[in-house]
Order: sequence, then C-alpha cells, then structure tokens
Amino acid sequence: MKLTTIAGTLVLAATLAAAPLEAGWNRGALQSGTAVQAQNPLSPEEESTLLFMREEEKMARDVYLTLFDLWEHPVFDNISDSEQRHMNAMKNQIDRYGLVDPVTDDTVGVFDNEELGALYLDLVAMGGKSLEMALRAGALIEEIDILDLENAIAQSTHDDVTRAYGNLLRGSRNHLRAFVGQLESMGIVYEAQEMDQARLDEIVDSPMERGGRKAKRKGCKGRSCRF
Ligand code: MN
Ligand code: MN
Repeated sequence: MKLTTIAGTLVLAATLAAAPLEAGWNRGALQSGTAVQAQNPLSPEEESTLLFMREEEKMARDVYLTLFDLWEHPVFDNISDSEQRHMNAMKNQIDRYGLVDPVTDDTVGVFDNEELGALYLDLVAMGGKSLEMALRAGALIEEIDILDLENAIAQSTHDDVTRAYGNLLRGSRNHLRAFVGQLESMGIVYEAQEMDQARLDEIVDSPMERGGRKAKRKGCKGRSCRF
C-alpha cells in the first residue's frame, strides 16, 4: 500500500474540514500556547499533507518501538528516537500555522487516520515474523517516507515547512542506510520494495548525512549525527 495514495485521499477530507476551521484559524496554536508566527496560511493541500506527515512519523515511531520490544535490536531503539524528533518537528509546523494536531492520543498504535492504523498493524505483523522481516519492514517504511516527503517538498510553497520536510528526508535516507546496512551485515541482499532500484542504490551507496541545527551545535557526536 502506498502512502502517497492515502495522502491524496486526505485532501478531500481536509477540504471538508476547512470550513469550521476558518472561524478559528488560530485555534490549534492558542490551545498549545504557541504564538502564530506564520503569516501566509497553508493551502488545503499543504495542510492535509502536513497533518498526514505528522501521523506518518508517528506510524514509523510506533512500528519501531513495537519491533524493538520484540527483537531488542538497537537499530529500532535509535531510529524510534529520531522519529520522535520528526514528529515534534511536524508538530512545530502545525502550531506555527495554527492547525489542529491529529495526534490527540500518543499511545503506540493509535491513529486518527484509519489507513495509517491499518498500515501499522500490517508492518508490525510483517516485522513480527523474524528479525530479517523486521529490518525489511523498516526499510519499506523509509522508502515510502522518502517518496512521500519528496512529494510534500514538491508541493510546498512555504520555506519553513519545506526545510522541515528536508530535515526529515535526510533522516529517512540515513534510516534506510541503517536498515539496509543491518540486512547486508546478515548477508542479505536488499532489493527496493517501493522506490526505483537505481534510486535506492544511489542512497544506500552514499555515506550517512550530517546536518541540522543539532549536529552543528553539538559537533555531531554519535547517534545525533547519524539520525
Ligand atoms: Mn522520520
Ligand atoms: Mn525514518
């Protein structure tokens, strides 16, 4: 199942939901106590994409937390921390633009978007079969996340949001490298599940990327520079 398809279906829902929001555009920000800094509102399509990406990051985090409980492989622990930061970054943008956060219950496996909820269950079932399948589920999530983030960036007309997606995209490429690297260390040749094989090879064959404020501020030590 492609998350890009799911994102498309959400545009209509977001458009329908836009009417009550117009009366209180700042409601989400007021609730969270964050001042609205953004002057130029997001389009309905940009809004639905941002809200979707917030929950897609949660889906990744929740799958990795669950697979870490199951297999106790540190890659899932490390990357779930990174997905939490990605969730936070999307929440910051949601607050900036005065939107209502779809994550009202942060419990693992609980989603506002039913399709993401179903995907969570499918990926946990896949990853429950073996450590190899768990790592493959991780790589699949990252492939899909990369494709969705690239679409989100192509659609975005707001530099701050584009920058936030860019940081998540860099993280996702590193996560993909980490999962594929773990599979290769087990002697498994990983083939692309969703993206073009050439594109996957290009990412996996290039080094881990550093970047972001955290890496610059802290001098990029250990985990913080990898993810
Ligand atoms: Mn992420
Ligand atoms: Mn990721």
